[in-house]
Amino acid sequence: MSEYKTIDDLGDLNGKVVMLRADLNVPMNENFQVTNTARIIRTVPTIKELISKGAKVVITSHLGRPEGKGDMANSLTHIVKDLEKALNKKVIFVDDCIGPHVEEAIKHMKSDEVLLLENLRFYKEESKGDENFAQKLVKNVDVYVSDAFSTAHRAHASMVAAARLRPSSCGRLMEEEINALTKGLNNPERPLMAIVGGSKVSTKLDLLNNLIKKVDKLVISGGMAHTFMSASGIKNVNEKNSLVQPDMLDTAAEIMKAAKANGCKIILPQDVVIAEEFKAEAKHETVDVNNIPDNGWSMLDVGTKTIAAIKTELDECKTLVWNGPLGVFEMKPFDTATNEVAQYAAQLTEQGKIVSVAGGGDTVSALANAKVENKFTYISTAGGAFLEWMEGKELPGVAVLKK
Ligand code: AMP
Repeated sequence: MSEYKTIDDLGDLNGKVVMLRADLNVPMNENFQVTNTARIIRTVPTIKELISKGAKVVITSHLGRPEGKGDMANSLTHIVKDLEKALNKKVIFVDDCIGPHVEEAIKHMKSDEVLLLENLRFYKEESKGDENFAQKLVKNVDVYVSDAFSTAHRAHASMVAAARLRPSSCGRLMEEEINALTKGLNNPERPLMAIVGGSKVSTKLDLLNNLIKKVDKLVISGGMAHTFMSASGIKNVNEKNSLVQPDMLDTAAEIMKAAKANGCKIILPQDVVIAEEFKAEAKHETVDVNNIPDNGWSMLDVGTKTIAAIKTELDECKTLVWNGPLGVFEMKPFDTATNEVAQYAAQLTEQGKIVSVAGGGDTVSALANAKVENKFTYISTAGGAFLEWMEGKELPGVAVLKK
């Protein structure tokens, strides 16, 4: 963490007003009840630490996509109860994030109190990274702390401009996230394996191009493997039975060539599970990739030989980074490969043999489905930001917190 500022670099916080940019963008049901409190819970250690240091904590966040105007469906009032429960203390809600109501509330705040301000994205200036808006956000604020790693790929006003206007640092969650991703990809113990699955090659080109420069072994699975299989000359991989992208065949071939030149071993499926229909419990069988029948059955998972090959390759590795499921994990039994490899990686992690880092949208649900969500070294709940980090891009909301 030596590269980034932490709470330890902020000096005495006693009596100071600290703006915490959190990511409280939690999922809710139609009755505005929070259905997953993970993002709230994970920022609690930072809030508690700031309180214990005598700071007055003012929490800001976005929720949903209100497109620059007030919209009660996306009001942060809906999360107050869950935040209070997680903190075990009262939270004072202010119905704006800038302006007189906020100024008044901050003026009357006592040490050890917590304010939660209304959704930042009720103002279009937030997403534009507007400097004047950032000035308004930090008015009456002494110090800025960010725990919103999952928004760090956006140069929004509260993420970047506000951080520049005050002494600033990472919160503990941001620190944890940066440390884990650095261990996973920037400064890993080798050999390093990446598993990339999911649906389409076209959405993961930057990711693949960065990984072939950094990792020793790259497992390509899920729907995106179909384009690579076809580009390697495997027969009967077509648009009827797979997610092959014919316009990406040349790109896939170039990626494989570049990987070879970089000394990165690409591991493709050796067998696949094909199903008569695209639905749970559909009639299915496992076939060798050199024996895929031309009967229109969909390729929904990778087979036992591929699972065993991935495990053997992983045995030789010290670090694993993972994005994307190996098959259609939402439908049983096509979650088998994802579950087996995830459980094996969890076991190696528990035995201290590997560092395992995973993240990005569906990966979190896929690993939860495999019941390993607490058994990896780190699972990032950041979707886009995690992917951009894996793509090798600098995230503006992280870069601004450099020493
Ligand atoms: P992504 O958002 O690109 O990581 O893709 C995740 C999605 O890929 C999940 O919804 C999976 O069901 C889907 N997926 C994985 N393997 C396959 C496959 N063999 N065929 C179709 N979809 C797949």
